[in-house]
Amino acid sequence: METKTTTAPTSTPSNFIKNIVNEDLKSGKVSQIITRFPPEPNGYLHIGHAKSICLNFDLADEFNGLTNLRFDDTNPAKEDIEYVESIKEDVAWLGYTWDGLFFASNYFEEMYSRAVLLIRKGLAYVDEQTAEQIRETRGTLTEPGKESPYRNRSAEENLALFERMRAGEFKDGERVLRAKIDMSSPNINFRDPVIYRVVHAHHHNTGDQWCIYPMYAFAHPLEDAIEGVTHSICTLEFEDQRPFYDWVVRECEMPSVPRQYEFARLNLTNTVMSKRKLKQLVDEKAVDGWDDPRMPTISGLRRRGFTPESIRTFAREIGVAKSNSTVDAKMLDHFIREDLKLKALRTMGILNPLKVVITNYPEDQVEMLVAENNTENPEMGTREIPFSREIYIEQDDFMENPPNKYFRLFPGNEVRLKNAYFIKCNDFIKDENGKVIELHCTYDPETKSGSGFTGRKVKGTIHWVDAKSAVPAEFRLYEPLILDDEENEGASFLENLNPNSLQIVQGFVEENMKQAKPHDKFQFFRHGYFNVDPKYTTADHLVFNLVVSLKSSFEV
Ligand code: ATP
Ligand code: MG
Repeated sequence: METKTTTAPTSTPSNFIKNIVNEDLKSGKVSQIITRFPPEPNGYLHIGHAKSICLNFDLADEFNGLTNLRFDDTNPAKEDIEYVESIKEDVAWLGYTWDGLFFASNYFEEMYSRAVLLIRKGLAYVDEQTAEQIRETRGTLTEPGKESPYRNRSAEENLALFERMRAGEFKDGERVLRAKIDMSSPNINFRDPVIYRVVHAHHHNTGDQWCIYPMYAFAHPLEDAIEGVTHSICTLEFEDQRPFYDWVVRECEMPSVPRQYEFARLNLTNTVMSKRKLKQLVDEKAVDGWDDPRMPTISGLRRRGFTPESIRTFAREIGVAKSNSTVDAKMLDHFIREDLKLKALRTMGILNPLKVVITNYPEDQVEMLVAENNTENPEMGTREIPFSREIYIEQDDFMENPPNKYFRLFPGNEVRLKNAYFIKCNDFIKDENGKVIELHCTYDPETKSGSGFTGRKVKGTIHWVDAKSAVPAEFRLYEPLILDDEENEGASFLENLNPNSLQIVQGFVEENMKQAKPHDKFQFFRHGYFNVDPKYTTADHLVFNLVVSLKSSFEV
C-alpha cells in the first residue's frame, strides 16, 4: 500500500459516501481506496465540477487513499487539448495533486479486446440498423423493445464484422456493436445498449489510429476497473446505469471490481451549469471567454477573485446529498467574504469621483496620515496616505437636497473623512447640465484621526482619495449573468442574459496601489472585495474586478 503525505483537512463534514468508505475499510473489503475525477475534455471546469473534485480528493486524502485525474476522452469530435490543459491547471489551482494522470484513450486497445471477449461469449453483436431504427425499437418504460434482425449472428460473424469496423470499412453510423442482454428488461439501459460506434474523426491523443470509439456507459466502468478505482462517484443521473456498469465489469471479467455511488449534482441559483451552454456563451461572444469573471467556471471564478480556499470550503459545506436541490449563489459569496475578511488589505477607492476642494487647507501642503491596513487584523499593520487640498469622494456621498436620515455631505453638514479630518460642505459648483461637479468644504485641524478628538460627533464617515497623488483605476462591477432561474432550463437562456451583468466605471485609488499585481485582493472601504484583473491590467492601467460586495445577505 502506497502512503501519502497530504494537506487534507483533518476532517470534512460527514456524508453517506464517507460512511460507506469507512465501512469498506473497516470490514477489509478494500485496503486502500482509489477515487478519480473523470472530466471529459470538451470544455472548461465549472463550480459543479469543483464539488466533485473536492469530494473525490478529500475522500482519498482523509483515508490515505489515492485519486486519479482521468480524462474521459472517448468522444473525439468535441475534445481538445486546450481543455485538457485548462482542466489540469484548474484542479492544481484548487489545491489538489493527483496521484495518477490518465487518459481513457490510452485504454482503447484493452477496451477493444474486452469487447471481443463479450462477442466470444455471445454477449455482443454487430447491428446494421440505423441509429433511428435502434431508438425506435428500444421500447418505452411500459413497452418492451424489439429485437434487432441482426441479433442472432454467430460469434465468428460478429468478430469478423467488428474487425472490419475497426479496419475502417464502414462509414459513421453504418454499424454499431451492441451488448446482447435483454430487449424486454424493465431497465432500458439493459436493452442491448450500443457499446461501440464508428466515428471517423481525429482524436486529440490517439490521432487517426481509431475509427471506432467506445460509448461512455461501456468505457467508464472499464476505465475505473483498469485503474483499480474502488469508489466511483458520479452524479444521480447515472443511478439507472449502475446495473449496466456492474454488468460490464463482471462480463468483461475485469480483475478489479469498482463500485459506483451517486450523489446530487450541484445546481446554483442564477447560474447555467452545463458545459454545452457555457460553450455557447463563449462561442456567441456573450462573454469574454471561458474565464470571463461572470462565468461559473473555475477559471472565471479565479479571475473574478475567488480563492481556492473559499471554493473548497463552499464545496465541503454544501454537503453531499442523495437528492437534487439548488444552492443559493449567495452562499459562495459568503465563503469568499469569510476568507478575505482578515487577509485583504482595506483601502480606499473612488468609483464615481466628485472633486472636493478644502478651501482652508494650505495650497502646497501635503501631509501623510496613518491608516490601518485591516481594522479587524492589527497584524497587518498600517500605511501612510497623503492628504492635501483637493480630494475625490463618491458622487453619491453628496446630495444637494438630502432626504431625512442622510448623514453624508450636504450644504452645511459635517462628516468624518475616514483616516483624516472632519470636513464641512459650504458650497458647490454645477456644470451647464445642473450636475454637481465640485464641492467646496472646510476642514477642522482639531479633528485629525487618531488625535483623540472628542469635541463633537458627526454621524457620517465617508471615504476619499487625495486628488494629486491618486492613481486612475478601472472598476468592473458584476451582477449575475442570468436573470431568471425559471428560464435557465429553457433553450432560450441566451435571451435571458442580464444586460447589467457588467458595468465598467473609471475612478481612483490610493497612490500606493501603483504596486498592485494581478490577483492581489483588496477590500475597498464601503464597496466590497476586489481582485486585480490579470487580463486587462497593464503597467499603467489598473483594472479591478468586483469579487463580492460587503453586504452579507446570507449567514450560515
Ligand atoms: P456538464 O453537464 O456540465 O457538461 P458533465 O457531467 O458532462 O458536465 P464531465 O466532464 O463528464 O462533465 O464531468 C466530470 C465529473 O464532474 C463527473 O464525474 C460529473 O459527475 C461531475 N460533475 C459535473 N457536473 C457536476 C455538478 N453540477 N455537480 C457535481 N458534479 C458534477
Ligand atoms: Mg458527463
